[in-house]
Amino acid sequence: MDEFELIRRFFNRAPPSGLELGIGDDAALLRAGRNAAGEAESLVVTTDMLVAGRHFVTDVDPESLGHKCLAVNLSDLAAMGARPEAFTLALALPGIDEGWLEAFARGMFALADRYGCELAGGDTTRGPLTISITALGRVPNGAALRRDHAEPGDDLWVSGALGAASYATRERLAGRGAELPAAACTRLDRPEPRIALGLALRHLARAAIDLSDGLVGDLGHICERSRVGAELRWPDIPVAGELAALAEAERIELALAGGDDYELLFSAAAENRGAIAALGAHGTLELTRIGTIVPGAGVTVVDARGRPVPLARAGFNHFA
Ligand code: ADP
Ligand code: MG
Repeated sequence: MDEFELIRRFFNRAPPSGLELGIGDDAALLRAGRNAAGEAESLVVTTDMLVAGRHFVTDVDPESLGHKCLAVNLSDLAAMGARPEAFTLALALPGIDEGWLEAFARGMFALADRYGCELAGGDTTRGPLTISITALGRVPNGAALRRDHAEPGDDLWVSGALGAASYATRERLAGRGAELPAAACTRLDRPEPRIALGLALRHLARAAIDLSDGLVGDLGHICERSRVGAELRWPDIPVAGELAALAEAERIELALAGGDDYELLFSAAAENRGAIAALGAHGTLELTRIGTIVPGAGVTVVDARGRPVPLARAGFNHFA
């Protein structure tokens, strides 16, 4: 049983309750009344947990860890087009280390303050180091970027460049962490949630997801939820510069299957192509058109001549 089968079998209960959107997207949507301007809004809720030894090494820099555990939650809000508002923090700590806690809090609050996102509560207990954050945000009704809104003919876009974070993970696991370029470490340790992009895409994109588990797998979630297929063009994928010297098979593996990029992948009607390209041109974040939503199911990747690109990882079969 994989992670998604487990959620389906034990937690995803039908028929749905009064939620506007329940399990299965980057965040849930709850109807939230009207804001000061009289707009009907949805509350956006998401939880992500980081466990020592699984998501990070025990001797990780605590300031980076504080940043990352909030960043991965804000990334899910970004993927919904939501504006962050508050978060709660549940902490299990093996003991009290004041220096560690001070650095952890500094990293977390530096990011929270940049997005005006307040710590609203939490829970603290003794136990194996585990950090679970629930982030809350808002989006006007009908403006959320959902995984289930992609349509055949939509362009597929991605922000930034892919593969640097999983390259950093691979090099560290192989004992070559000391030789890594600083930029690759930053991509893994301090991902930047694409909040501004999510807000800008509210009326331009149809479907969106943040890339936490790898491009092809995460695109598979959009396809499944939207009941469509997708075609990616390998030559158009923005591969991180850190991967330039690697063999093509490794670049394919890291950019298409490597996780932890926390970029936004989104679909948009072709008529919005100019507006989205302009967003990319005027911002600091590159936006690249990498494929198309097609009728059917599953994700295929093609080369410059339209031939399928073989994907080494068995995991890809799930989505083919
Ligand atoms: P993401 O990578 O965007 O955080 P996940 O792949 O972790 O999303 O989860 C997929 C969906 O399943 C999400 O909607 C998430 O809220 C839901 N989910 C995950 N674990 C549980 C659980 N234990 N109970 C209920 N829903 C869950
Ligand atoms: Mg997500």
